[in-house]
Amino acid sequence: MNLKESQIIKVAIDVPVDDLFDYRCSEQVDVGQFVVVPFGSRKLIGIVVEVDVNTTLPLNKIKEVIRVDEESLFNTELFKLFRFVASYYQYPIGQTIHTAVPSRIKQGVTRGKKKNYIFNASNNLSYEVIHGFPKNQKNLIKIATQLLTQPMNEIELKTVSNWKKHIEYLINHDLVTQVEITPEAPQHSAPLILNSEQSEIVEQIKKTKGFEAFLIHGITGSGKTEVYMHLIDSLIKNEGQVLVMVPEINLTPQLEDRFQSRFHTKKIVSLHSHLSQPDRLENWRLAKSGEAQIVIGTRLSVFTPFKNLTAIMMDEEHDMSFKQQDNLRYHARDVGMMRAKLLNIPFIAGSATPSMEIWHRAVNEKKLKLLSLTKRANEDATLPRVDLIKTSQDLDEPLSTYLKDAIQHRLDQQQQVLIFINRRGFAPVLFCSSCGWQADCNRCSSKLVVHKNKQQLRCHHCDYQRTIDSSCQECGNVDLMTLGKGTQKIEEQLARLFPLARIKRVDRDTIKNKKDLDQLYADMHDQKLDILVGTQMLSKGHDFPHLTLVGILDADHALYSSDFRAGERLFSQLVQVAGRSGRASIKGEVVIETNFPEHPLYKKIQSQDFNGFAKEELQLRKELHFPPFVMQAMLKTESKNKKYLEAFVTQCFQFMSNLPSKVTCFPPVRPYLERLQGFERSHIYMQSNNRTELNHFLSELRSFISAMKISSRVKWVIDVDPVEF
Ligand SMILES: [Zn+2]
Ligand SMILES: [Zn+2]
Repeated sequence: MNLKESQIIKVAIDVPVDDLFDYRCSEQVDVGQFVVVPFGSRKLIGIVVEVDVNTTLPLNKIKEVIRVDEESLFNTELFKLFRFVASYYQYPIGQTIHTAVPSRIKQGVTRGKKKNYIFNASNNLSYEVIHGFPKNQKNLIKIATQLLTQPMNEIELKTVSNWKKHIEYLINHDLVTQVEITPEAPQHSAPLILNSEQSEIVEQIKKTKGFEAFLIHGITGSGKTEVYMHLIDSLIKNEGQVLVMVPEINLTPQLEDRFQSRFHTKKIVSLHSHLSQPDRLENWRLAKSGEAQIVIGTRLSVFTPFKNLTAIMMDEEHDMSFKQQDNLRYHARDVGMMRAKLLNIPFIAGSATPSMEIWHRAVNEKKLKLLSLTKRANEDATLPRVDLIKTSQDLDEPLSTYLKDAIQHRLDQQQQVLIFINRRGFAPVLFCSSCGWQADCNRCSSKLVVHKNKQQLRCHHCDYQRTIDSSCQECGNVDLMTLGKGTQKIEEQLARLFPLARIKRVDRDTIKNKKDLDQLYADMHDQKLDILVGTQMLSKGHDFPHLTLVGILDADHALYSSDFRAGERLFSQLVQVAGRSGRASIKGEVVIETNFPEHPLYKKIQSQDFNGFAKEELQLRKELHFPPFVMQAMLKTESKNKKYLEAFVTQCFQFMSNLPSKVTCFPPVRPYLERLQGFERSHIYMQSNNRTELNHFLSELRSFISAMKISSRVKWVIDVDPVEF
């Protein structure tokens, strides 16, 4: 073939290499299209990033593209974002781009969701026409005759063999028409009337031209969603599209219905991991084509292509799930804000307990405009009263007398109760009363958790499980005890104390999937349950009008945590849980059991004073040189072999210490879980006051590691702005 006839294109491939790859292409091809290319002995999917470029390689070394697909996946705007993300998070550009490619396309399947049709006879179809069909075409005649009396769907047609061929024939001869079946939209619901605070916020944001970032700080129950909806209403008027990001656990059918019933003539799609692959691809394409005007999605949706995106919104900004914890470790908030900037559109984040990062940027650096909702949207609803009660010291009676009385009082009035337990530090472990032995996981440095109903011990970090021991592995003592309260133990006690109450335990054993969770919410709404006992999955954005008492048991572990964000998380979690109580007109109550009722953090939670909490927390972070006052990064390493790991981190640390830079590096440390799933782990922290400097430093570190021989024996990753340690 004549080399001059083809052009050179740069292609992003899903491999851990920092560069794009040069290929020859003799077909017409554009930026964003996807291609199949030879790579070594394999055929891989690649995304065209640049066309018609010059190459430094000899032409005969450059391979030819195997196939060009006609679908274009991304536009130029997104490539700018990808380059920013790859550089900021120190992740190979090809892999960064492929993070945003729907997995179905990566698997080489481009077919989206199958559409359902209904078939109708056209005016041309008549008994005379059917009479004219060849007599041996019995099935064709059968279908046509039935269609003359009534329309048919695919399920009805499937009873006839070769129905597709016959229908195709009828359609091609204009005898039958097909119409796509779309699910019925829920009842239309009119917009609620905003209170003065809400409408002021809507007006302020509506005035924005171009990029501006907003933080809506609204107490729980202040009607943030209603504010988003009013904004969306004005934004999508002229074919505009809006992206609404929410935490995975909040993206429920109820939320989708709420949006759909408000905007019942608009196309709304969701993007989250519970969708089937074909549905997800279909929704992604509807966003790309501009047909879907509202896209509700989890963190990954920040990379969705849009035709005419006019605003990016993020609800529950404080939620940890917005930060990806493997591979490309991006934070959807920071990527979303950058994308809004590149597109010159507004970015709107909201939370009752914003992260210290965004709060600092809004309050101190004025990079976001802070807008506050200080009243509950339902005028009769007020914030719940919070009582701090000393924890019961009796292991067999985990609930304090105060809480027991409070529960009885609520049950007497047919109201609902939520008992919230922090999983960590609370799980029951197996303990030998004579030698002190505890059952550990062999693969992780953690204790195994007792699951009594299954007579099992289970590791909550790697899912290892085995039958419960009948005797101590150290001394043979058969008198083994279970330490720690645990959800099951508390459920038992509640059942004993309140024999008539309908109690439901909510944890990984009882709620296995989204369907179970939806059922649970339905039962709560219909008052088929009186008491819920559970862990954090209950704490987020659901309204239960009959829930008036929340009991929180022993949250104290956060007070001793080595993670500097533990206090922030505890505050946020408890305020969110407390916010579940008393959404309607009955005054809610929250009882927090603690060993330290006088602790300043609990006092702040008691007054639900976020501003006061944030002020002190930020002051402390400033003094201790913690984010958001410094930028952090972490080199996380793991290996099955401890020697390799130690040699690796020692070499890395030496290299880092010798680099001429103002970035501070701390000697390698073993994390809280030294061993996880059979891997030894070690971390090196870095911090700096200067983002650019930190970024350069990390690039150099990355080149150094890539050139190290030992690096293939160790798994390593750079985590920029880490939130988990
Ligand atoms: Zn023992
Ligand atoms: Zn384990």
